[in-house]
Amino acid sequence: MKIFHDGDHGKALCADCDDVVRTTYRRRDVPFSDGNGMARNILVGVCDRCGATVAIPAQSTPAISKARKAAMRPIEASLPAIYLDVLDHAVQRIDGQASTDFRRALLTYFVHKTAMDARAAVVLRLSHRRAIERFPEERGAARRRISMKVPQRVTEDFRKLEASSELNTTELLKSVVFLIHKQVLEQPKPRLIGELQALSAIWA
Ligand SMILES: [Zn+2]
Repeated sequence: MKIFHDGDHGKALCADCDDVVRTTYRRRDVPFSDGNGMARNILVGVCDRCGATVAIPAQSTPAISKARKAAMRPIEASLPAIYLDVLDHAVQRIDGQASTDFRRALLTYFVHKTAMDARAAVVLRLSHRRAIERFPEERGAARRRISMKVPQRVTEDFRKLEASSELNTTELLKSVVFLIHKQVLEQPKPRLIGELQALSAIWA
């Protein structure tokens, strides 16, 4: 792998100039593709003609992924305590040895699975309605905080589901926990339970 230094030159295709152009390697702040923040002082190839960033050398990739990780926001909410109880119960049902940290894997699994479903918004809104019917919220009922650091991709899945279902973080979590309630505790399917047990076995 060739290591580039500030001021080195190269050649790259510039989309703005629609041409192969000479580039100069410079340190720049590179915005993440999803627009949420940026990686600072990353060495990139800049088009000599128009100044656009046209190349990111392999050596800059670790710095970018490190910055992305640092920008990772946990999913946080304060939920009526019953939802955390359901979650812990489901964790126990899957694997009696699992720690409560397996909650994070369980929620991540369901968020990802739901995000792949074309009917996600409908499923989530329905589940949310059932959750509210099943666990009516009385004034002053105990609430518990949940805070989970999850990979960027999961946060993206989560934000997408929030937007499509028009539920905020707290309400979306209620909806997802209720899906878990149904599929793990009320009407468990052996195949799903098997998958989750396998996940638990490799979860450290
Ligand atoms: Zn250019």
